Amino acid sequence: MNPIPILPTPCANAPDDPLAIDAHLLSRYDISGPRYTSYPTALQFRDDFGASDYARAAAQSKRTGKPVSLYLHVPFCDTVCFYCACTKIVTNNRAHADAYVQRLHAEIARQASLLGAGRALAQMHWGGGTPTFLSLEQITSLIDAIGRQFVMSHDDSAEYAIEIDPRSAGPASIRALRALGFNRLSIGVQDFDPRVQEAIHRVQPRGLVEATLDAARSCGFKSVNFDLIYGLPHQTPESFSNTLDAVIEMAPERLSVFSYAHLPQQFKMQRCLPDALPDGPQKAGLLQTIVARLTAAGYVYIGMDHFARPDDELALAQAAGTLHRNFQGYSTRADCDLIGVGMSAIGRIGDSYAQNAKTLKTYYDAIDAGGLAIARGVRLNQDDHIRRDVISRLMCHMALEFSSIEQAHDIDFVSYFAGELGEMADLVADGLVAVDAHGLRVLPPGRLLVRVVAQVFDAYRRSAANARCAKVM
Ligand code: SF4
Repeated sequence: MNPIPILPTPCANAPDDPLAIDAHLLSRYDISGPRYTSYPTALQFRDDFGASDYARAAAQSKRTGKPVSLYLHVPFCDTVCFYCACTKIVTNNRAHADAYVQRLHAEIARQASLLGAGRALAQMHWGGGTPTFLSLEQITSLIDAIGRQFVMSHDDSAEYAIEIDPRSAGPASIRALRALGFNRLSIGVQDFDPRVQEAIHRVQPRGLVEATLDAARSCGFKSVNFDLIYGLPHQTPESFSNTLDAVIEMAPERLSVFSYAHLPQQFKMQRCLPDALPDGPQKAGLLQTIVARLTAAGYVYIGMDHFARPDDELALAQAAGTLHRNFQGYSTRADCDLIGVGMSAIGRIGDSYAQNAKTLKTYYDAIDAGGLAIARGVRLNQDDHIRRDVISRLMCHMALEFSSIEQAHDIDFVSYFAGELGEMADLVADGLVAVDAHGLRVLPPGRLLVRVVAQVFDAYRRSAANARCAKVM
């Protein structure tokens, strides 16, 4: 069949396996690559994809009448974190918010008219920047506008999430957000060490985060996520262990633990960080500490930097084989069409991805001209569909049964991916994956490197754009 070793047993569901860390393998496979929140990734979006392409995809979607998902981007932050690589505008001028919200209202109405008003809103995520840069009145007006166009759930059966900054959203704001229907919260924590917080220009003492978390719990948020970052200045396994002590004590339902990607040529503010950043082996030590501490505390490793408590929906969905991956990471909701609203927001409609204009001026100009703000995108071809399915299954389930892809796409897996299976030889020899006649399974030492495995199936992996991605660690 192919030059790779054939294992005697069929592939099993890998997430039950323990997570293993091999510092040597981590550094050997510390290569650049996408995080595969989409496939093709945004690096492959084209400028010749425009409003008419989007309108065609939207018309198709409208005919299905299926539930939709909505991502709303608020690009403003009133202070800058030096490690940040997000699309944001740093300003203290709240007047920006009025002008922006006005355009969001127009865009929501136009999107609904194209995609069909009255569709159920199964999932909503507000990200940024800092969504809570907007006042509660502005947030309320936008929720009202969304509620007029789409059918929002009022019984928490849908997932409505918002990223908040505890420095600007106190307990009163948290209660107000809950009353508006948000039921999931994501808090940027990064590290509780005061020395690290000062170096990254994000000072938020533990007490502040605790107060936010307490408020979220007392008013009924279903799930709280903490973002943590390793690889920041002054971090050591010992110092980060103290942060993990605090995190484990607070017990958020989900954790996103990102590796800091130092790309000062692309993100100028990163040049403000002290020079002494943890090197590769030090980062591997940090990662070892993180995995050991979190798994010992009972968290389940979901994949790609995400951990969840075993009773959280993410862990349950992974165990049930119903996990999905989208622009916000992992999701328990079926793959529905995603409407992206706001500057630089990305949507996924039918067989297309589309991204809005990436500057405030171009976004405003497009909306003021009476249309949408689609600036680029991509329409998937048949090969993209097949590879998206393969990569998504690997990222979500750490395993792939060839027959499931064959049935879904009417191909012979081994013939279609003969080259890719051949390329797996090194990964197999290094114990990252096991391949047999029925499928492929990511082994414990490969689970932290799953995007390296997924990358083998990426048709664009050798493109110049991909080389600009952050490394695995
Ligand atoms: S990390 Fe978040 S809050 Fe900080 S500058 Fe970036 S987008 Fe703004």
